Amino acid sequence: MYLKASDITRYQREGFLMVPQVLTPEEVAGFFEEAAAMLSRGKTLHWPSEKGMVMDWVADAEIESAIMRRLALHPVITGIAEELAGRPLRLFKSELLRKEGTGSTMTPPHIDEFALPISGAPVTLTAWVALVDVPKERGCMKFWPGSHQVKAVDEAQDLASHPEMMFLPRVTLPLRAGDCTFHHARTVHSAHANETHTTRISLATVYMDEGARFEPRTLYGDGMNDKLSRHLATMQAGQALSGECFPRIRWKD
Ligand code: FE
Repeated sequence: MYLKASDITRYQREGFLMVPQVLTPEEVAGFFEEAAAMLSRGKTLHWPSEKGMVMDWVADAEIESAIMRRLALHPVITGIAEELAGRPLRLFKSELLRKEGTGSTMTPPHIDEFALPISGAPVTLTAWVALVDVPKERGCMKFWPGSHQVKAVDEAQDLASHPEMMFLPRVTLPLRAGDCTFHHARTVHSAHANETHTTRISLATVYMDEGARFEPRTLYGDGMNDKLSRHLATMQAGQALSGECFPRIRWKD
């Protein structure tokens, strides 16, 4: 067990949990080196905003790089993920995120679930591991505690139609390099702009229930040409997300 029972209860209540130092400084250095090299190759997808750029990212980081696959399947991170979910999980995808220094805009509040083509997976969650220090001014994340249980948000795919969300309490979570947050796919979250001169680099990995099934979503894959999108394009609605592409993250069985 990596977590105390109270950590798991807290995650179930709030929809997110920060676990400090899941990586050693040596691991951070190694993963950072690979991440910087991948990002420098420039094969990234972009999230533009009215005022500039929210962030860009390498889709399928774990397919493109054996080192990133080790991070996506890191025993401590996947162990914590399964303790939080309380059931066996599979890897869905892993994205290497970059929020450039001086100029990246805030990440608007959103729920990941609506961008994930997954059904029958009530415990889908994301592990977000920082590969640099991420104080507030470098674009750390904010979470709305308990929002994963709010019915109104659950049914509304557009948070802009829920301005009351902006008046609910939220938690700002600065991270040290090697710290990791875990958040439920229905938890509302956002991130500050990066106002520093240092690029924010992190790996966000989505884990889903072992029995998750494919549910096509128009939001996902539009204009994308990464390997995962091409694979999903060959799948039928309702088909199991299993096999080599979506491995079990632990091998207890
Ligand atoms: Fe998100």
